[in-house]
Amino acid sequence: MKIICIGRNYVAHAKELNNPIPEKPVFFMKPDTALLPPHNPFFYPDFSNDVHYEAELVLKINKNGRHIAEKFAHKYYNELSVGIDFTARDLQADCKKKGLPWEIAKAFDFSAPVGNFKSINTFENTSNIPFGLKINGDLRQQGNSSNMIFSFDRIIAYVSQFVTLRSGDLIFTGTPEGVGPAQREDYFELFLADEKVLDFKVK
Ligand code: ZN
Repeated sequence: MKIICIGRNYVAHAKELNNPIPEKPVFFMKPDTALLPPHNPFFYPDFSNDVHYEAELVLKINKNGRHIAEKFAHKYYNELSVGIDFTARDLQADCKKKGLPWEIAKAFDFSAPVGNFKSINTFENTSNIPFGLKINGDLRQQGNSSNMIFSFDRIIAYVSQFVTLRSGDLIFTGTPEGVGPAQREDYFELFLADEKVLDFKVK
């Protein structure tokens, strides 16, 4: 399986990183080795001094497809959760400055913890799904799919023009504002609506 991540999908987050509002989705990928095994802490990597958290809604693809039309895209996922797109912001800034790819900043081991998945049918409307991140009990990020620039269906239609989607693939759909640095000993709790879908410690 593969992990596809959408960048800059919330206006307020694009602004906080001084990025322009995109006209098309921006995407990059993480390998399956980026998943954090269940019940493991996230070990702060020694190659970075500025690892940021980005809390994001995550879709699970349940059918293979390519060149998927936007109007049929909803048939390609039926579960979602919340995950963290850990980003070595110092390495990413260096890559951006040099015009290099971002992989070392985004695709490293355990950089994609994902919570338990819930059926999409538990939500009345896929364009009104709230989620949040607490660190050490404080609410750090709060988002809602209603604020996404590109909807789930638009993302799937766009990405599948270039990359075949397979059952089991995950799509991180972008982070709202409020990203910040993770610290050793932090306790992360991820919420989908009111339900906690994952918790872990940073070591
Ligand atoms: Zn992200």
